[in-house]
Amino acid sequence: MMVQEFSRRQLLWPGAAAAAGLVLGVSLSASGAEESNSKAKSKGKSKGKSKGKAKAEVKRCVVVWSEGTAPKEIYPNDINGAVAEGLKDLTGWEVVKANLSDPDQGLPDTLLKRADVLIWWGHKKHDQVKDELVDKIVKRVKEDGMGFISLHSSHFAKPNKKLMGTACSWGAYESDSITLKVTVKSPDHPIAKGVKPEFTIEHGERYSDPYVVPTPKAVVFEGVATLKDGKTDPSQQGLTWEIGKGKVFYFQPGHETNPVFFDPNIRKIMANAVQWAAPSR
Ligand code: ZN
Repeated sequence: MMVQEFSRRQLLWPGAAAAAGLVLGVSLSASGAEESNSKAKSKGKSKGKSKGKAKAEVKRCVVVWSEGTAPKEIYPNDINGAVAEGLKDLTGWEVVKANLSDPDQGLPDTLLKRADVLIWWGHKKHDQVKDELVDKIVKRVKEDGMGFISLHSSHFAKPNKKLMGTACSWGAYESDSITLKVTVKSPDHPIAKGVKPEFTIEHGERYSDPYVVPTPKAVVFEGVATLKDGKTDPSQQGLTWEIGKGKVFYFQPGHETNPVFFDPNIRKIMANAVQWAAPSR
């Protein structure tokens, strides 16, 4: 991706940083920001120089975190890369990618503090996420109103479980589905704005109701999985809560062997969810 290449060049050749930053700044302000964690850090350090100007146009910040285990043939830049790419046209937003393998597990205090929304995709490495970081995330949601968006197998992610305060288990996990038809259950909800009333994606893994969580504030999306044997399985797909001061959205689609996060319908939902979950200023 273009932005990442600039970031690498900046690291290799500091002399090019100003020029690259200039080009980057122009393109980002025109189409929404997407930048790596390292770029975000360097930006933070130089903040003081353009303080007056920056204050007038402070962007909101969404951090897209993942553990880095998605197959490269489906997600060459991992799942957070695909999600971040889908958010790049959000006006007034800076999109930062964070990975479990980054320093501070991708979420140093400085980044977590300025994140308006945190999107989380994890599956095999939930246990590696430090409890200390989980506590900080939960505090940011409950006390400061940071939005939290939990994707697919992140139902068992530590921050998701701690925010819900329940087992967060599904009734069944089966790899026998072919497609998932997603339907809008709450058409007036901001996360459903402009989303087709019904669309179908390839999705090879279904989670079956019940989802052991507190009663959601809204069920925005429902779905029906069509199985290999022709049977169907309906289940909840998109749920919202208010936890303390923060808004939380869980979205069931997003299995790593399906290119779900490249789908324009899903990208629309993600963009809506980010804007909905952000705390009001
Ligand atoms: Zn899965």
